[in-house]
Amino acid sequence: MKVVIAGAGLAGLAAACELADAGHAVTLLERRPWAGGKTYSVRDRETGEQLDNGQHIAMRCTAEYAGFLGRIGTAHLMRWQRRVRVPVFDADGRRSHLRADALPAPLHMLPSFALYRHLPVVEKLRVARGIVAVSRERASADDGETSFGDWLRARGQSERGIGAFWDLIVVPALNCRCDEASARQARFVFREGFLHSSTAAAIGVPKVGLSELHVAPALRYIASRGGELRTGATVGRLIVEDGRVAGLQLADGERIAADACVAALPPAQLLELLGEPARARPPFDALASVRTAPIVNLHLWFDASVAPFEFAAFTGCDLQWVFNRTRIEADGAPATPVGAEHLVVSLSAAGRFMPLDRQALLELLLPQLRRAVPSLASAILLRSAVIKEPDATFVPAPGLRRPGTRTPYPNLFLAGAYTDTGWPATMESAVRSGRAAAAAAGEIESRASQRRPLAAAVP
Ligand SMILES: Cc1cc2nc3c(=O)[nH]c(=O)nc-3n(C[C@H](O)[C@H](O)[C@H](O)COP(=O)(O)OP(=O)(O)OC[C@H]3O[C@@H](n4cnc5c(N)ncnc54)[C@H](O)[C@@H]3O)c2cc1C
Repeated sequence: MKVVIAGAGLAGLAAACELADAGHAVTLLERRPWAGGKTYSVRDRETGEQLDNGQHIAMRCTAEYAGFLGRIGTAHLMRWQRRVRVPVFDADGRRSHLRADALPAPLHMLPSFALYRHLPVVEKLRVARGIVAVSRERASADDGETSFGDWLRARGQSERGIGAFWDLIVVPALNCRCDEASARQARFVFREGFLHSSTAAAIGVPKVGLSELHVAPALRYIASRGGELRTGATVGRLIVEDGRVAGLQLADGERIAADACVAALPPAQLLELLGEPARARPPFDALASVRTAPIVNLHLWFDASVAPFEFAAFTGCDLQWVFNRTRIEADGAPATPVGAEHLVVSLSAAGRFMPLDRQALLELLLPQLRRAVPSLASAILLRSAVIKEPDATFVPAPGLRRPGTRTPYPNLFLAGAYTDTGWPATMESAVRSGRAAAAAAGEIESRASQRRPLAAAVP
């Protein structure tokens, strides 16, 4: 069967790997000159390092993404914790840890939370009650319509607790604040990451750039099974005949025939391919309401190895998470006293940072970083760079409808992190959606082959 996949982000790549493996003739169409979508690396002109479009992490609970890396042979390029352990700095340089101990879930976080210094005792007791509510209360239909902020307030959480604890996890996980996320999506994150098992929240960080981690290896995997990637190929229109998608038409007019198509495009670009009546029909009518949020990464190179962590979270200041790429790439080896150190300040829900240029970001964030991590105080900043992703992820807002895999066209399937996987906008969601679309597309052929012998039997 000939399958054409529009969009070579992670969802398109995952679908292509699956379909090529099953022996289908796969063509991936990507409008940019490179594949990877929201996950790619560029070469830094001065240092030669691979800089990602945004620092990405995975968690042990993101099992399908981990499985995808295993399939393409790069699982060893992730650096995994055994259990989650995150240093958290406050604005004045006080350090505390959030970590899982070898206790059954959900008690595993309790010892570190009891010692956590960035919340007063009364606030910690409140948060503990909130965690019990997240784990015990049954999901209700309202959860999808209510913001997590309101859900927490209704369970006695204070503004301080929401800002200093709940947002500490929700902002990087969902790329929006508790008040912008649906209670359903935020509770999902806490349940999957922290409440089912003591190892689920363990963090995995790529030791190499994302292009080397999963883009190039996936493309090799697809090519070795006869599939092809065409870059600079902007899909402009679906070719619909007799209620089926007969193929895709590129913006330059070229028509590519297909037995089945997977649209692994961001919602706004998928909308552009659809004609007027189709746009108004489910599931396509949900696409226009998907909003996105930006992420900003500020790269800093210091003259010496000074940040005493591989990654850390921050509270009470503008910093959120900082990654020490030098240590991560050295597989956690202790920093050498001499030599440049590359840190990445990762800012989620970054709407207010988007108008700021590199210099303005430096003026805002560098003094805060030096204050929060005192060992950085005397380090000399050698250079810096900024990478902004305006539409980094979809916002899991209250009331958001996420389309499923199937469409009114029997041979067109949707993939993309935004589809209805249950997961937030993650690599996990992208891989799951791609695999689901591939499985649905594969069913077309198995249905056809079930019919074929019967037809052949007719004299
Ligand atoms: C800065 C940043 C940080 C992130 N951090 C994390 C993290 O820590 N952990 C995590 O799990 N996830 C993270 N994510 C989210 C994750 O990267 C995405 O959810 C995932 O990569 C989305 O993949 P996708 O294939 O669904 O969509 P996309 O990557 O958007 O792929 C869609 C593809 O379609 C192509 N396309 C668009 N229009 C057309 C057209 N007309 N014709 C042909 N091709 C077209 C695009 O160029 C793109 O390649 C982050 C994202 C960003 C941007």
